[in-house]
Amino acid sequence: MSYVSEVFEKVVRENPNEPEFHQAVKEVFTTIEPAVIKNEKLYKDAGLLERIVEPERIISFRVPWVDDKGQVQVNKGYRIQFNSAIGPYKGGIRLHPSVNQGILKFLGFEQIFKNSLTGLPMGGAKGGSNFDPKGKSDNEVMRFCQSFMSELYKYIGKDTDVPAGDIGTGAREIGYFFGQYKKLTGLYEGVLTGKGLTYGGSLTRTEATGFGVVYMADEMLKDAHDGIEGKVVAISGSGNVAIYCAKKFEELGAKVITMSDSNGYIYDGNGINVDVVKEIKEVRRGRIKEYVDTVKSAKYVEGKRPWGEKVDIAAPCATQNEVSGEEAKTLVSNGVKLVVEGANMPLTLEAIKVMQDNKVLYMPGKAANAGGVSVSGLEMSQNSIRLSWTFEEVDERLKGIMKNIYKQVTETASEYGNKDDFVMGANIAGFKKVATAMLAQGIC
Ligand code: NDP
Repeated sequence: MSYVSEVFEKVVRENPNEPEFHQAVKEVFTTIEPAVIKNEKLYKDAGLLERIVEPERIISFRVPWVDDKGQVQVNKGYRIQFNSAIGPYKGGIRLHPSVNQGILKFLGFEQIFKNSLTGLPMGGAKGGSNFDPKGKSDNEVMRFCQSFMSELYKYIGKDTDVPAGDIGTGAREIGYFFGQYKKLTGLYEGVLTGKGLTYGGSLTRTEATGFGVVYMADEMLKDAHDGIEGKVVAISGSGNVAIYCAKKFEELGAKVITMSDSNGYIYDGNGINVDVVKEIKEVRRGRIKEYVDTVKSAKYVEGKRPWGEKVDIAAPCATQNEVSGEEAKTLVSNGVKLVVEGANMPLTLEAIKVMQDNKVLYMPGKAANAGGVSVSGLEMSQNSIRLSWTFEEVDERLKGIMKNIYKQVTETASEYGNKDDFVMGANIAGFKKVATAMLAQGIC
């Protein structure tokens, strides 16, 4: 049995009930195998793969808080500090009822390679809670965030671990986390990213993940002697990533015809009006179906995902495993040319295979959505030097980083014999840098 298969079997055996984590490890391991074989003895002697799949630390804690009726609620809180070989831990905090240790381990594992691809000195981490901010009052969210941070503050800091946003954690939650961290430690430091602009946040951070996804799609199409202008796009989700992905696609001349939430999707054949979506989601915290109240010509499809629509580009920007093998086949039969992942691991392994077998240009999330963490890295730099860069300056840097990620991915894919396999390119490029750093630092 190969070294990669041996360690993968151990992962499955020793981490039962964590299917998303197994899936993420499998995707990485099956594609990095050629790079592992080249250095097999070195990696094996150093137990490198055994170490890379084991988080350096898992912090799990109780999050008690009092709701508006005066009743005590208790949630689970976690921080997975996965790998600090190339920098302080960095990764978002997810607040969603589905959160459990396995999901955060998959996200933390992905984050190691994503952060490596950005070229910035950031290790991999992820955290979160099974708390659901939906339907809670601002005061309830504040009390939850304060309780969560009352435990987490012991383990984070600007040079140790810098959390950020993710599903359910936006500017409001980051503000409450930051306030509580400051109160407990007395430190005004860049311990979180995604902060508001009046207290250390970076311009372009809100837009960064979505914009970065489109910059990546642009690079991919240019290389194929094509462009974004005139393309028809399906986006899923209507949160932070989806909104700014839609905005940038529209700016560059594409037509976005779908967006969604966990209840259903909207279809607007004239091109979605992103300002209406922003008003519903960012201001009113409403549901995507409210779009048709304003745009009467649009339709709302309850209980379905948008992958049955005929599009040139699909950008899943909601959550993991939201495109099945069957849905991938439908997209392909409807002529999809490019799939770019805004969410983390939105395609199942079967769906990825369908895209690759059918020569669809497909870029995995760890490369395509790395714009968010990249600008988080830039927020950390600005906090350290106590300066704020302009929107244009940060946007230019973001474009440069996305271009560079594309270059690394394609060059690595070519080096390993399949220039179109961006999954392999991204995984090997991300992995090699972390592996080299881990080897240099000894067994730790
Ligand atoms: P938000 O909370 O802002 O939005 C999430 C969106 O996805 C909402 O529309 C939500 O709908 C939908 N969604 C969430 N869970 C599900 C589900 N189980 N089924 C169907 N729809 C669902 O999150 P973000 O936009 O920040 O994150 C979206 C994805 O992008 C995630 O995979 C995240 O890990 C990834 N990502 C985010 C980055 C960032 O900078 N924010 C950076 C890199 C990746 P509903 O309101 O109904 O729950």
